[in-house]
This record gives sequence, C-alpha cells and structure tokens, in this order.
Amino acid sequence: MDYQVEIEGGATFDVDPSEDSLLRAALRAGTGFPHECSVGGCGACRYDLLEGEVEDLWPEAPGLSERDRKRGKRLACQTRPRGDCKVKVRCDPSYVPPIRPERIDCVLTRRRMLTDDMAELSFEATRPVAFLPGQYALLRLTGIQGLRAYSMSNVANGSCTLQFIVRRTAGGAGSRLLVDRMALGSSVTIDGPNGHAYLREQTARPLVCIAGGSGLAPMLSVATRAAALGMSMDFFFGGRSAGDMCARPLLTSLPGFGSRLRLHEVVSGPDSSAWSGATGWVHEAVERLVNADAREREYYFAGPPAMIEALQEMLMVRLQVPYEQIHFDRFI
Ligand SMILES: Cc1cc2nc3c(=O)[nH]c(=O)nc-3n(C[C@H](O)[C@H](O)[C@H](O)COP(=O)(O)OP(=O)(O)OC[C@H]3O[C@@H](n4cnc5c(N)ncnc54)[C@H](O)[C@@H]3O)c2cc1C
Repeated sequence: MDYQVEIEGGATFDVDPSEDSLLRAALRAGTGFPHECSVGGCGACRYDLLEGEVEDLWPEAPGLSERDRKRGKRLACQTRPRGDCKVKVRCDPSYVPPIRPERIDCVLTRRRMLTDDMAELSFEATRPVAFLPGQYALLRLTGIQGLRAYSMSNVANGSCTLQFIVRRTAGGAGSRLLVDRMALGSSVTIDGPNGHAYLREQTARPLVCIAGGSGLAPMLSVATRAAALGMSMDFFFGGRSAGDMCARPLLTSLPGFGSRLRLHEVVSGPDSSAWSGATGWVHEAVERLVNADAREREYYFAGPPAMIEALQEMLMVRLQVPYEQIHFDRFI
C-alpha cells in the first residue's frame, strides 16, 4: 500500500514502502529533494519528521552525526514511511533529476578485468536505458544489505546496455561480489539514473576530467560523449601504482585522442619503479596545467573522498573557479 509524504510548503508524493525509501520516491516524483550519494554516507538528504512515523533502514548510517541524531534528524535515503507523513526539508531546483530514476531489471552479460582489482561489467536491460554521461545507478544485490552506487562508464545512446567499472575493496560485500563472484546471466535490479555531475553539453569552455581509481567510470562516460561532440579536453587519471594505469586503452579509440583529447597519467604510490611517467598527486598535476587559465575551464571529477577534497580546495578556494564550472561525485 502506498503512503503519502508531504514536504512542508512543497510537493506531496506517494511512496511504496515495500520498494522505495523516502528519497527514491521523492526523486521518482521529480522533486528537488536534496541528496548526493543516496547510500547513507554523505548526509545531504537529512530532514526533520514533522508528522507520522518512519522505519529506519540503517540506524548507524555514517551520514548522520551524533548531534544530528540527538536533534531528531533522519536520512531520506535510509527511511521508509510507515504511514502518511509530513517532513521539513529545503528543496532546491538544482536537485530535480534531469531524468527521473526508474527501476529496471538487468542481466550480467560480460565481465573483464582491467587491473588486478578493477573489473568492467556489462549489463543488458529489458528495455532501452536513459542516463546522462557521468551519472550513477543504484544496484540491489542479492543477499547484501542496502543499495550500492556505481557510475555508468558507457553512454546511453538509446541502447539497453549499462557498463560499470568496479574496484574490489578490502572486506567490501558488494564490490567483491561484482568483481569476483557474480555469475554471468545473474539478474540484478538497477535503479537510476542519479547524480548531478553529468556533462553540460552547451559549454564552449575546454573540459578537465579528473579520475581517481574507479572514478574512471563516470569520467570515461563524460569523455566518450564530449569526444563525439568535438569538445577539447584534458583527461587526468591517477592511480596508486603502474598496475592501476588502465585508462589509456579505453580512451585511445575516442575521436581526437592525442589532439583534442589529451591524456595525463599520474602514479601516486611509492612503488613507481615500473613507471616512467609522471608521479605525485593527481590534483597537483592538474594545477600545473591549468594554473594560468583555471577560470576558463569546466571541471568534472570522481574518485575517493581525499582526492575530491584536495580538488575542491584547489579549484574553489585557491584558483577561485566559479562553482557552476565544477561537477563531481565523491565515491563514499
Ligand atoms: C555516487 C557514487 C558513485 C560511485 N561509483 C563507483 C564506481 O563507479 N565504481 C566503484 O568501484 N565504486 C563506486 N562507488 C563506491 C561504491 O558505491 C561502494 O561504496 C564500494 O564499491 C564499496 O562497496 P562494498 O559493498 O564493496 O563495501 P561495503 O563496505 O560492504 O559497503 C559500503 C557501501 O555500502 C553502504 N552500506 C554499508 N552497510 C549498509 C547497510 N547496513 N545498509 C545500507 N547501506 C549500507 C555504504 O553506504 C557504502 O556505500 C561509488 C559511490 C558513490 C557514492
């Protein structure tokens, strides 16, 4: 049975609590409910419950601090209504999904290892999928608590194919299943698209794409579309060792590679003896390139939180790049 959720002073939408969290239903209804990671990690979807009752799906979710909990805050991505509810949250048009997310049944059709710990996975959906380059989806994996966010590495182009690049994390339930164990032919429900770090096609500014580790997935999607449109782009790929450097073969076939599309590879780890290219932190390599005309470019980046924070500090604080020219996803 569906319940109704009213946002104080705003929209009212239905939630099917057997399928959706409050956030999933709010986004399916096209509201501007604030959100970022959708998986309990960031706290962007915090709200106050004014009336009604909700079920907490993950009471220990790191997106809420102790202070938030004491003040009665909830996470929309980790709560489901138990009846009609009224909530207080400041919606914003920038959070309205450009494409409303939907659940779609998919089958795993292909997996290939790109490095020792990163695999590219291809899923075929039962109907054509719609998403913008740079967006992510939520995977519901059998036997695993909660949803997992993974960014599409391909472009939609009206096809039924969704591709992902997944890095196996130590002790990680979802990533180890996807990289090592899920059998070809397995069915998975995929919910998307999500995310705001999608390619803005209208810009005339040159792009800077920065990928750390499996952040390669959304940046590859952005680069594929941008290259097809003839956009000028510097693509930075950072990894810990020479063995992580898997971006080149995925980019060389794109139109303009080596001229309009320039790849910069950077290895950060101490063991870079097998590597004759650039070393250090990827954000420092970006700064060396863009220093003179940083404000004339459009930035896309994805990867681990430490890389995102270093880039935010560099671009927003030191180089004073306008906020609207910066688009990123934190892989929490
Ligand atoms: C927007 C976004 C895009 C991402 N894109 C990629 C990508 O393209 N490639 C990639 O390799 N990684 C990506 N990640 C990271 C990925 O979602 C996983 O966090 C990572 O693979 C580790 O998951 P795991 O299941 O292996 O680890 P685990 O430690 O088992 O799980 C960590 C993840 O599960 C959630 N979680 C844990 N316990 C619960 C619970 N009880 N209830 C609900 N949720 C729970 C956490 O919030 C976290 O997202 C992305 C993350 C975000 C936020």
